[in-house]
Amino acid sequence: MKKIALYAGSFDPFTNGHLDIVKRGLKLFDEIRVVVAKSPHKNTLFDASTRQKVISDVFSGNESVKVDSWDGLIVDYAKHENIGFILRGLRPTGDFENEFQMASMNKHLFKNIETFFLTTGEDYFYVSSSLVKEVHKYGGDIKELVPKQVLD
Ligand code: ADP
Repeated sequence: MKKIALYAGSFDPFTNGHLDIVKRGLKLFDEIRVVVAKSPHKNTLFDASTRQKVISDVFSGNESVKVDSWDGLIVDYAKHENIGFILRGLRPTGDFENEFQMASMNKHLFKNIETFFLTTGEDYFYVSSSLVKEVHKYGGDIKELVPKQVLD
């Protein structure tokens, strides 16, 4: 059976840190399903369909990565699509507590789900979507921090 992992997030925008997690995740899983959280309560710079479209462009031609969006609990997406694994990235900048809590809650909600963590690549530990937006807003150069499709 194909091993599929869900990689869900706001991806507002998708950064090279996210890209690194997907690429390395493909060493473990046959398919990575990148799922854009619609989260209407979150004040995002890009709407969900734009985020989904740009990420699809980043992975165009790569059959092992599929991109979708979802408005609801990620475990409900997993049940709906019959997926047993969640992939997450861990940065040494405070991700651990939230990620641990989220993985535990997801396990509580859906016993068959397992969350896998990859520590951030050494080039991207300081990269976050919010910081990238901030740097860009004030004219800083972000071209090494996001895929070309995001920069465009
Ligand atoms: P969320 O709103 O769910 O936190 P994000 O888009 O910020 O969504 O992040 C999605 C996932 O990607 C999270 O597991 C986060 O820790 C991880 N992530 C974000 N930036 C990086 C990075 N630079 N390196 C590794 N993982 C990252």
